[in-house]
Amino acid sequence: MTDAAADALAGELIATALAMNERGINSGTSGNVSVRIDGGMLITPSGVPYERLEAADLIQMRFDTGWTVRGRDRSSGLRPSSEWRFHLDILEARPEVHAVVHAHPTAATALSVHGRGIGPFHYMVGIAGGHDIRCADYATFGTEQLSVNALAALADRRACLLAHHGIIALGVDLAEALAVAVEVEVLAAQYLAALTIGEPPELTEAQMDEVLAKMAAPDGYGSSPDPTIVEE
Ligand code: 13P
Ligand code: ZN
Repeated sequence: MTDAAADALAGELIATALAMNERGINSGTSGNVSVRIDGGMLITPSGVPYERLEAADLIQMRFDTGWTVRGRDRSSGLRPSSEWRFHLDILEARPEVHAVVHAHPTAATALSVHGRGIGPFHYMVGIAGGHDIRCADYATFGTEQLSVNALAALADRRACLLAHHGIIALGVDLAEALAVAVEVEVLAAQYLAALTIGEPPELTEAQMDEVLAKMAAPDGYGSSPDPTIVEE
């Protein structure tokens, strides 16, 4: 990766961290964001307000060795996000994933406190890649056990809840990981609203299979040029 490309990625990572708070899915220095680079990742430093972040403050971590602050020496006191373990483990285990967003959004966290994932009460649950969005078992923040639990809950999915904690969302890039995180919180808020008048009925396995197939189809949803149409 060229220096210019690395700088652009660093800028995008900071913009994504800021956007988590602006979009209302996180507050303060909760949450963290990472993006894949050659042999490892760039990740937000621990406990630094996103408005103060500069590209030089980001942490570079490799899969096989240690970490460095991008543009400062160790005396800066900057350290990797306390959740570096699950970011690194996800990026190592899931080659199709290039960005990881972790946040503490209100509705999803409320569900996670009850150890509840999000069942197929709404077809958009399929956006996470399956019939449900699981809730990972509780483990202390920043531990290897939390990483193990998160990876299990993320199997064949691009989002999960973390019990008594928050959410993780994955993407092929930072924009997608952020969009998935926002959608999970929208779904969690809708689910909470539906739960106020009882357990909502769920879509069947067959209905969810149909949704997933349609979401995966090139003409299933959204607008893009139809390659079969040849302009005269
Ligand atoms: P960091 O500031 O260390 O990234 O921690 C925030 C957090 O969400 C811990 O779970
Ligand atoms: Zn957290």
